[in-house]
Amino acid sequence: MDDRIIRNANKIVIKVGSSTLTSKDGTIDKDFLENFILQVKTLMEQGKKIIIVSSGARIAGVATLGKWSRQQDIHYKQALCSIGQVELMDSYRRIFNKHGIHVGQILLTKEDFDHSERTLNIRNTLFTLIDEGVVPIVNENDTISVDEIKIGDNDMLAAYTTVVWGGELLTILSDIEGIYNCNPSENEDACLIDVVEDVDKLEDEISIGETSSFGTGGIKTKLKAAKMVNAYGIPMIVAHGKTKDIITQISAGEKKGTLFLPRNA
Ligand code: ADP
Repeated sequence: MDDRIIRNANKIVIKVGSSTLTSKDGTIDKDFLENFILQVKTLMEQGKKIIIVSSGARIAGVATLGKWSRQQDIHYKQALCSIGQVELMDSYRRIFNKHGIHVGQILLTKEDFDHSERTLNIRNTLFTLIDEGVVPIVNENDTISVDEIKIGDNDMLAAYTTVVWGGELLTILSDIEGIYNCNPSENEDACLIDVVEDVDKLEDEISIGETSSFGTGGIKTKLKAAKMVNAYGIPMIVAHGKTKDIITQISAGEKKGTLFLPRNA
């Protein structure tokens, strides 16, 4: 992977998956969050502008309440997200504040991206927050998102956000080093794919297995997100979120992930 990708990008969207954000017991992984936020701070000190797209509200809700984890009723699921979102933002806020950085919460639905006026408002708010040194933290607004109007996974929410903002790079932090030719949890010989220049071709060539228990989107939605941002000339990286200093390490060429390069790059 070309290690200049992160170094050259000034506007970066970073998506954090549920399995990256949480520990095995389902609580928010504070060690991960401390290290992740330190990396964001370092990037900001280098003059980069950052937006975070964060999953994890539902799991944080379960961890906070200690019940409803098996509830299938949509209203309970939404209630869990509403409880967990507070917990999630509180965790981000506390750690960012230690570094003197403020955060802003933005909750979005698919409909917001379908209306030009709303999209413009999202854009303006993002620009204002970022101009003032505040880190926007975006999540789907689960309270009003039923299946029919859901973006459904934060990989795509991150892709929409990157495009609307005019981001220069989308980085997806997952529980896996990148995209493999087959599911590494089922195949010992799975090989990590370094660079992808044609997502359609890749889809035909690899086999996609089950996601982890906490994951929602899986590899399919990551490929869909890559297609979307690549179509706008924006590269995307999938990398292992829990590896310490992963973003810094990738930009130093010390760790790998999968890089999706737009064809005109
Ligand atoms: P996240 O919560 O970060 O969005 P997911 O759990 O939804 O992540 O998706 C990542 C998981 O997808 C990996 O942990 C892995 O088990 C599974 N997976 C299935 N097929 C593949 C593949 N070809 N390459 C990489 N991971 C795969």
